[in-house]
This record gives sequence, structure tokens and C-alpha cells, in this order.
Amino acid sequence: MATVDAKNFQNYIDGEWVDAASGETFRSKSPADGETIGVFPRSGPADVDRAVEAAEAAYEEWRLVPAPKRGEVLFRFAQLLAEHKDDVTELMTHEMGKVKAEAAGDVQEAIDMAYYMGGEGRRLFGQTTPSELRDKFQMSVRMPVGVVGAITPWNFPIAIPSWKTLPAIVSGNTVVFKPATDTPALGERYVELFAEAGLPKGVLNIVHGGGSDVGQRLVEHPYVPIITFTGSRDTGVEVTKTAANNLKHVHLELGGKNAIIVMDDADLDLAVDGIVWSAFGTSGQRCTAASRVIVHDAVYDRLASRLVERVEQLRLGPGWEDDTDVGPVINKSALEKIHAYTEIGQDEGAKLLTGGEVAGGNGLENGFYYTPTVFGDVRPAMRIAQEEIFGPTTALIRVSSLDDAIAVSNGVEYGLSSSIFSRDVNNAFRAMRDLNTGITYVNAGTIGAEVHLPFGGTKHTGNGHREAGQAALDVFTEWKSIYVDYSGKLQRAQIDTEE
Ligand code: NAD
Repeated sequence: MATVDAKNFQNYIDGEWVDAASGETFRSKSPADGETIGVFPRSGPADVDRAVEAAEAAYEEWRLVPAPKRGEVLFRFAQLLAEHKDDVTELMTHEMGKVKAEAAGDVQEAIDMAYYMGGEGRRLFGQTTPSELRDKFQMSVRMPVGVVGAITPWNFPIAIPSWKTLPAIVSGNTVVFKPATDTPALGERYVELFAEAGLPKGVLNIVHGGGSDVGQRLVEHPYVPIITFTGSRDTGVEVTKTAANNLKHVHLELGGKNAIIVMDDADLDLAVDGIVWSAFGTSGQRCTAASRVIVHDAVYDRLASRLVERVEQLRLGPGWEDDTDVGPVINKSALEKIHAYTEIGQDEGAKLLTGGEVAGGNGLENGFYYTPTVFGDVRPAMRIAQEEIFGPTTALIRVSSLDDAIAVSNGVEYGLSSSIFSRDVNNAFRAMRDLNTGITYVNAGTIGAEVHLPFGGTKHTGNGHREAGQAALDVFTEWKSIYVDYSGKLQRAQIDTEE
């Protein structure tokens, strides 16, 4: 078994590696086998204040660096990350637990984002418009805002930091980044490589520690005008309330309860491939995971039996082993929560078709493994069909029409991703129009976003913002409209216009 040496890590503030002011530490442990990945500073408000001060000082210079030059640092970072893709991937299989192919995809997403946002350094387009008056010019430009507080979860420990820090930094902001306490080594590696790419000191700082110490202080801090947060719905609500005291810009990417619709004319083998990938990839710990499958009555029994047959062949194991299909879940409390939902589903009268157990044997008992679980006969109002479980559990729901399928898909508090398998173009277009989610897939599962389109969701998945693509720039910039009058006289808008 490969191992990663446990070592001591520090915060990165103002271009220097430093311990927490308190000197306290915490350990990051692998969910796959309990090995210690590293020892990290357990930081608190004093460390956040120090990082914000550094980011504020760096902002005054960084905002003036020509944007194409800022973009060039991102290009160098993309290259460095590509060179280190294998070692970062390996680290991810140990610290976060996802399987090798998916960990490599997580790193690749950050590489893609670095190239995409690096290119923004030569765009950052504004608008020019004609004026209603003669000899007057007008345009809008994007302005950076200042210090960005970036708070991230553990499930995409390289990709999600990239979605936040890259558009922020290319736009001229500086960042204080707080990664999740389950994946600090990956956060640290991300910052280390970005610094090596040539970022000036203070532009990107990392402060390790818990949500109630580091995260909360970042959200409260009066000199942090933007908070970009990805995590659970309930924490998102808390962040919003706290940030409201300083009228901060708050960008939220929260939970999902995503559904795949399988119509009576679907290619069932393709649908099963899509369901297995979307429900059990990353052990179901994706915000876009397919935790519901809405199946037309005419194909329900065939789909259920083919799906169960496939799921029972999935091999649980550590992510670094080549033949592992499904890795561990992130920690003990996640394992307990997932199992609690199995009991809830059974109590509600859903039929457990396969899985539903904490896995052991062959060393699995040293980690947090859960057997891939499929429930049948699930009714849309059941808790397992409404609440985010964030584990390898999916729920089959039977419907008799496309209208019913769309209503069931939309009948949850979240609105992140949706999918339809159908060979009928009319079904596909109705679904694209009527599924109330930020992302819809046709003849693919609920996962597979690329960096150049907006990413995010409706309803309680967020607050109307999007990451990635051009939309990300709207989170990290303010518009300024500029009017230049070269007539040499006072011209009053709306009044001195020509007849
Ligand atoms: P979480 O809400 O527990 O934690 C997210 C981050 O917030 C962590 O860094 C945590 O330390 C920090 N935090 C906790 N309390 C805080 C507070 N009071 N103030 C400031 N920061 C605080 O979420 P998690 O368990 O790490 O992640 C899983 C959740 O993330 C799921 O709900 C999932 O759907 C969601 N997610 C959403 C997206 C998306 O793009 N929509 C992507 C990935 C994950």
C-alpha cells in the first residue's frame, strides 16, 4: 500500500509559512485507512486578521498589475499543476478518498480553469454604448472589489478552490482561503504551487482551521467585502446572516438532490451507465450526485434489476488501487449519517434493493466504507427522496408520464442538476425547458460540468450566482460605468438631447 509521509504544515500568510498564533494543531487522516496525512495549524481569529491585513496590503498593488500579466501567472500555475498532476492525484486518493480517475479529473478541472481564467486576463470585457448626446463617450469596466474570503468543502479539494481563487485573482482581487479541515493537505498543495507560479506575496493566503473559528471570522471581518462559500445549505444560511451585518457580497454554492429521469423510450444500458456513474462516483459525495432516479412505469422493473445487478459488482476499496470502483466516504460522522438514512428509508416503507451496510473485511474496517445502496418503491415525499444524504445511496421513484417525472424532479428544495434519458427529441426539449435546475443533461447522468459554462443551481442550491465561465466574473467584480464628455460644455442627460 502506498503511503504519504505525515509531516507538519503551516499557514501561508504574506508569502511566508507560519504556525497558528495559538501554536495549536490538528491532524488530517485518510478516510481510506486512517493513516495520518499531516499535522496542520489549528488557526483562529488572530490568524485570519493577519492574513486579511496581508491581503489588503497586497491588493493595492495587485489591482494595478495589468490584467494580461495577472493572467500569465495563472498560465504558469496551470503548467505547474499539470506537471504535478500525478502526485496531487495520489495525495487526493489518500486524503479525500476518491478513486484515482476521479481524483485526476478533479485536478484536471483546476488546470482547465487556470487556462480559461488566465485567458480572461486578456478579455475581462466591458461594454461601450452610444451616448444620446454628441461628443460624449461611455463605457463600463469591471473593477476588482478587494479581499475575497474563500471557504471550501472537502469533496472537490482542488477543483473548488480553483473555481473561486482563479477568477478572483485574475480580476485583481486578493484572497484569504480556508479549506475544509478534512482536506487541508490538498489546500496547502494548491497554494504552494500557485505561489511557485509567481504570485506576489499576500495575493493568496491560506489559513487552516475550523468553520467556527477561521470561517466565521472571515465572514465577520469588516475588510473582507466578498465571501465565496461552497458547502451545506445550513452553513450557507449562517454565512449569509453573519455577512449581512457588513452588507457583504455573498456567493453561495450549496446542496443538491439531483434526479435522473428515465423515460420509456430510453436506451436502458446507457441509462444504467449514467446512473451508476452519477450516483456512486465520489461515493455519492458530489453536490451533483444522482440521489434520485425517476423511472417510467413501462421500464421500471427492467431498469431496477439491471441497475441492482451492476451495483452489486462495484468493488469498494481505497482510491489508489486500480480496481477500486467506489472509495470511502469522508469521515465517521458521514458514515453514520448515511446509515441513518438507510434506516429512515426502511422505516418510511421504501424497499432496500441492495447495499445499506457499513462495509468491513479486507481492511475496509480501517476506513469509512458504505455499500452502494439502491432503494426501490420510493415515494417522492419520503425523506430519502427529499434530503441530501451525500453518500452512495440512490432512490428509485416510479412515474407514469413525463409531466409527472418533471414535477417529481422539481419537487425538492434544491435545484442544482437534472438529467433525462430519452430518444424522443420532444421529451428532451420539454425537459430542458421545464426542469428547474441550473444544469440539465440529456442522455448523460447528472455530473459532467465543464469549466467554460456557468455552474450552480436554483432555489436553495444557492443565491443566484454562478461559478465558472463568464458568470464567475460577476461574483468577483463590480461594474463601473464611465461617461466622458468632450463637448466642452455642460450637456444634461435626458434634457439637452436633440429634437
Ligand atoms: P460544510 O457546510 O460543513 O462546510 C463547508 C466549509 O464551511 C468548510 O470549510 C467548513 O469548515 C466551513 N464552515 C463551517 N461552518 C462555518 C461557519 N459558521 N462560518 C464559515 N465557514 C464555516 O459542508 P461540507 O460538508 O464540507 O460539504 C458538503 C456540502 O457541500 C454538501 O451540501 C454539498 O452539496 C455542498 N457542495 C456544493 C457544491 C456546489 O457547487 N453547489 C459543490 C460541492 C459541495
